[in-house]
Amino acid sequence: MMQTPLTMTQMIKRAEMFFPKKQVISRTASGIQRFTYKQMAERTRRLADRLAKIGVEKGDKVGTLAWNHHRHLEAYFAIPCMGAVLHTINIRLSPQHITYIINHAEDKVLLVDQDILPLLEKCASELKTVKAYIVMTDDQQLPETTLSPIYHYEDLLKEANPNFNFPEDIDENAPAGMCYTSATTGNPKGVIYTHRGIVLHSLALGLVDGGGISERDIAMPVVPMFHVNAWGMPFAGVWFGTTLVLPGPYFTPKILAELIEQEKVTITAGVPTIWLGLLKELEEGKYDLSSLRTVLCGGSAAPKGMIKTFEQKYNIPFKHAYGMTETSPLTLISTLKSYQENLDPEEKLELRSKQGTLVPCLEMKIIGKDGEVAWDGKEMGELALRGPWIASEYYKDERTEDAFRDGWLYTGDVVTIDEEGFVKIVDRTKDLIKSGGEWISSVDLENALMAHEAVFEAAVVAVPHEQWQERPIACVVLKDAYKGKTTKEELFDFLKPQFAKWWIPDDILFLEEIPKTSVGKFLKRTLRDQVQKGVIN
Ligand code: ADP
Repeated sequence: MMQTPLTMTQMIKRAEMFFPKKQVISRTASGIQRFTYKQMAERTRRLADRLAKIGVEKGDKVGTLAWNHHRHLEAYFAIPCMGAVLHTINIRLSPQHITYIINHAEDKVLLVDQDILPLLEKCASELKTVKAYIVMTDDQQLPETTLSPIYHYEDLLKEANPNFNFPEDIDENAPAGMCYTSATTGNPKGVIYTHRGIVLHSLALGLVDGGGISERDIAMPVVPMFHVNAWGMPFAGVWFGTTLVLPGPYFTPKILAELIEQEKVTITAGVPTIWLGLLKELEEGKYDLSSLRTVLCGGSAAPKGMIKTFEQKYNIPFKHAYGMTETSPLTLISTLKSYQENLDPEEKLELRSKQGTLVPCLEMKIIGKDGEVAWDGKEMGELALRGPWIASEYYKDERTEDAFRDGWLYTGDVVTIDEEGFVKIVDRTKDLIKSGGEWISSVDLENALMAHEAVFEAAVVAVPHEQWQERPIACVVLKDAYKGKTTKEELFDFLKPQFAKWWIPDDILFLEEIPKTSVGKFLKRTLRDQVQKGVIN
């Protein structure tokens, strides 16, 4: 067979050639803007031309601090296709971490949204490698800023070459993208994505039993484009000629519901907190979301109750998937096998709430106390992965040795696998509760609690215990209508028939809110500290 390189240039060229009339719909500060792929590709070539003139060369890192919109999408292609590296930076991190990330990656140019300028200004005096800033704004004028030298994105594009030729000689194993994952301790860790990895990962997003994205779709990535390169949806979407809807800055559940209704979105992707928010909105407002054929959910466990409400109350199909920054991210996806469709609804729901089976191209092993675990849905072990879109190291980081061993990525996730090969994330190694020498899954308890009609969110954490070493404590946020009415006792009675006695939390605490990470996941470490110190009671 021929050895043709798998580079991202073919993706944008395909959109330009075959889908020039298809659209990118972008919500920005000034409202909804629409671009055809013909326009988008031309603007992408213009951006690459100007970045080259500013001095960006092959292998240079170009950082972005931006929301989900058309300019960010243009950067998603202009930067890798000119041979440079698209470094998406998580704008929800602290200025200290952002400064660390930019210096560590050695970003040469930064593209930044106007509303994120104040955050970047806080970091600027410490930045060692940045030669230029480009502000992405709908305003005609350059905003007031202390950053220098600063360019106006649209002004740059106006003067640029619309026929800029992307280089033909990019190596498929060259870096194309980059993202940092927040470490629980210490500085964030960088992961490089190669052209080849991105191309193959995008193919998996297009598989019917994978992400299932097609040209026919109207796809809305809600997951921020500064996180894990937005789960690959922008790459796959452009390549397949899919209509993309980019929800822009500071969206609310209401804005998402309106966008889905107005633009007839068929597939959307985000973390469970987003979908819990949307469900709350659906309880309050009237929307027609019948266009939706998939809500793709990953990043943390999708509670069973949530899947049930989407599917049974609103008739919106739900797809649970698993991945991490180190895995591009798509790794596991929970789609039923044909013969499992005959199972009873509760059994199906149980399977679908697992993280699912491995997508093609990847390999996994699950290492327990005595080697690989049995496929019995009970024995727990750490999930290890390898494959063409799994990172092989952290970028210039000695912590590589902790996670990458013998050609495998050790995910730090404890899982079980059942007879049918459905993997279930039981916990992160560091969140597992070890009681009397046995493991208790905080995720299982959380899921059970969140299936109660009064519960909006629940997180279960460990507290030290003299006799049992650790014991679970549940932290619960009640839905507004149930506040002050639903009692601990009711929730205990609800849990008891579902679990062994020793799994039942020692206490249930009611909170107004569960602390979350920058990407909306429960911040278990903070919660654990607060519970242990008795801040919450
Ligand atoms: P961070 O490490 O900063 O949280 P990632 O997005 O890379 O960023 O997080 C990956 C982790 O998120 C996984 O290791 C796993 O613990 C968790 N995760 C991702 N998807 C799921 C899922 N569907 N169910 C449960 N946990 C998940």
